[in-house]
Amino acid sequence: MVIYMVRGKGAFFVEPKKPLQIKEIDFPEPGYGEVLLKVKAVGVCHTDLATIDGEFPPPPLMPTILGHEIAGEVFKIGEGVKDLKPGDRVVLSWLWHTCGKCKYCVRGDEHLCEYLIETGRHVYGGYAEYVLAKASHVLKIPEGVPWEYAPAATDAIATPFKALRIAGAKEGDVVAVWGAGALGLNAVQVAKAKGCDVIAVDVADSKLEKAKELGAKYTINAWREDPVKKILELTGGADIILQLVPTDVRTYEQAFEALRKGGRLVLIGYPPGKMCLPVIEWGLAEKKVIASLAFTRYDISESLRLLAQGKVKPVITVYRGLESINKALDDLRQGKVLGRPVVLMD
Ligand code: ZN
Repeated sequence: MVIYMVRGKGAFFVEPKKPLQIKEIDFPEPGYGEVLLKVKAVGVCHTDLATIDGEFPPPPLMPTILGHEIAGEVFKIGEGVKDLKPGDRVVLSWLWHTCGKCKYCVRGDEHLCEYLIETGRHVYGGYAEYVLAKASHVLKIPEGVPWEYAPAATDAIATPFKALRIAGAKEGDVVAVWGAGALGLNAVQVAKAKGCDVIAVDVADSKLEKAKELGAKYTINAWREDPVKKILELTGGADIILQLVPTDVRTYEQAFEALRKGGRLVLIGYPPGKMCLPVIEWGLAEKKVIASLAFTRYDISESLRLLAQGKVKPVITVYRGLESINKALDDLRQGKVLGRPVVLMD
């Protein structure tokens, strides 16, 4: 019997500042080179929250199904798919499709692809029972990685992994992670896995305790202590600082001061405003300020490997069933979630 369509539920983003609406729809038959996934777990990202709350421009496709940290089982494969079969466990990220031939793609920066198709913005995403994907852009989940951990590899681990990769992190480097939220706590573990000495900076003791438990050598509460003075005192300056604070650009200027000679300040959270940096110190100490946006499929595959090796245990809060999506978003909005909310489908 040929199945032409699958009936299932999706949580639709219809208008800003309103809860997502769960509706039944027909999911399409996968076309050439495509696969239809049965969603098993999906991470709930701040970007989606900002989109729902109207802080980000609405997606080009409206109404849409958001959700771009997806782990699922291959349900059906389209023509021409050679390396996947029904039942395979895979992840799908924000990178729904990249062209593979623009100047960014060919040099390994596919996250900057000129023709990027974004999951949840240009096509339906993972807050649904099924999602359509390109076989080329899903990656197999290694054995032993539970469903609820896998979505982290598609964003919350891949993002700090890529930031450390472009900053050239190596064994013995002092890495300061400024902002110990979901991404920051993964960053601590990735840096530790690379053999770096990790310093976590935050204003919440609960997050700093978690950072310590996950391998941070030092923790600094920036309310109580001057983080710059403390980092210089403890280490003589950081080789790399991952700046994740999304709200206050002054912490970026502070971080610059805490770098040693040749140190790299990596911008990952993007607060509004402008940075003001001392040019002479910048030049004489040969400091580098770089931005790191997202990740490539390479970073996702390495993140999956770290999960399989148990070197990163993402900090997550599990919600059950698609119906819990609005609750997960609400809790995230109110700052009630420890780490990343993950909706587990069954
Ligand atoms: Zn491209």
